[in-house]
Amino acid sequence: MKKCDYCGKEISYMEQYCDESCQKNALKYYEMQEKYTKIFSIINSVCVFAIPVGLFIFSFRNDVGFSLMSFALAILGITVMILPFPVENMISSMKIKKAIKITRIIGAVLLLLGIVLIVIDFLIFLK
Ligand SMILES: [Zn+2]
Repeated sequence: MKKCDYCGKEISYMEQYCDESCQKNALKYYEMQEKYTKIFSIINSVCVFAIPVGLFIFSFRNDVGFSLMSFALAILGITVMILPFPVENMISSMKIKKAIKITRIIGAVLLLLGIVLIVIDFLIFLK
């Protein structure tokens, strides 16, 4: 059975989406992805890069390294939540709607982890 590219519901072989709203939502997603994918990958790579750098700095400056890591993690989480761009094979296996949802959850987990670290940071290092 063929599935709707947006919501994953079963559809006939002639269609690509189950209805107009799914088609609209899918289009909106592709437009957003096209518009923001560059800025997303820049923020993404800066944050991903900052985490090991923070870990390295941590070995001689605990406070600075820890702050860098926690803020990088929180910013990464916020970015992934606002601009949830799942990887291509996530979209093809679970379709756009579910892939976005799971990506947002991952973003929320990263953000939560970042916030917990920032709180620890304030309690221990920034007194
Ligand atoms: Zn649909």
